[in-house]
Amino acid sequence: MTRIGVIGGGIAGSSVAVELADAGIEVLLFEKSGEIGGQIKEFGCKATDICTRCNLCLVDSVFNQVRRDKSIKTKNNHKVIDAYKEDGLFTLYCDTDKREEIYTNIDKIVLATGYRRWSELETGTPEIFDDKRIIWSGEFEEMLFKREDHLQKKDLDLDLDFEPESALFIQCNGSRSPQEKAAYCSRVCCGYNYRIARVLRESFPEMELGIFFIDIQEAGFLTDLSFQRLNDEGIDYYNCKPLRINKAAGKIEIAYEDQQEGKMAIAKTDLLVLSEGIHPGLENELWSKLFNLQLTDDGFLEEIVPGSESDVYLAGTISGPGDIATTISKSKAVANQIIYQEKEVVV
Ligand code: SF4
Ligand code: SF4
Repeated sequence: MTRIGVIGGGIAGSSVAVELADAGIEVLLFEKSGEIGGQIKEFGCKATDICTRCNLCLVDSVFNQVRRDKSIKTKNNHKVIDAYKEDGLFTLYCDTDKREEIYTNIDKIVLATGYRRWSELETGTPEIFDDKRIIWSGEFEEMLFKREDHLQKKDLDLDLDFEPESALFIQCNGSRSPQEKAAYCSRVCCGYNYRIARVLRESFPEMELGIFFIDIQEAGFLTDLSFQRLNDEGIDYYNCKPLRINKAAGKIEIAYEDQQEGKMAIAKTDLLVLSEGIHPGLENELWSKLFNLQLTDDGFLEEIVPGSESDVYLAGTISGPGDIATTISKSKAVANQIIYQEKEVVV
């Protein structure tokens, strides 16, 4: 029986595992932490009076099926540290919380170890580190997570020890900037911060809100997201990247270039929320070495050409930024590629 090793138990690896298991293929799912779910398990529903289709609803059923399906053997606390291929079969070495374990006779490998947040990098924006008025979007996700989700939500409880009357968002942190080692667009942060701003607008109708955008990148539900729409929803926008953040007493001051007026201006806020770009995972270099894969200039793994004989596949943000829906659909496509090849072998 064919045996597939999926490395990474986030939404990409889990989506691959479920699709393969549905086709009767045995899956070993290696997760280095104590539970499947990856970073997404800390995200929260961003519904307001309506569902804003952040697609988080899609993930629970995937993780539940992984937990239920007997064809998926989940190995939590298993960090893959070495691998080799002999006679067409892989052997994986794992560090576990007790000892090293070895898994043999694996036909194919799917790498799905995801990304790192910008805030996890040492080079991350330093303004944040010593000021409680400045938070990452990821910290905001934790506040959203505490609401009951899926449209039965409670009002948002801002888990802060002050009561902000204004909030500003700055986009593109750790993205679209060669100095931040990421010249690319992270593709998800326009959407999630806009949704967070809407939740704030609903929970705190009097709060002053604004977003600094370079431009707006969002597909799906928010295809009609526009500066006009922000205006209509009472969210100010600043079409630039700020020049400087000044942690003044009282309000935080953000210096920017007012392009319409052609001069420097200052925006003031009680709370500053910084988006977080998607950065390559720490293990990418190890996978590149172990499985002879190319890294892109940005440090993601180069997409593997379908039909390659490496028997290694990539799923999710290991090969570049992507949102939840795209990650799930591309991961299913990877699984179906494997299923199709297996059928060809049987015929
Ligand atoms: S998690 Fe909330 S906002 Fe996101 S899709 Fe589900 S109901 Fe909609
Ligand atoms: S998705 Fe938006 S905020 Fe994120 S990097 Fe792209 S343009 Fe910037």
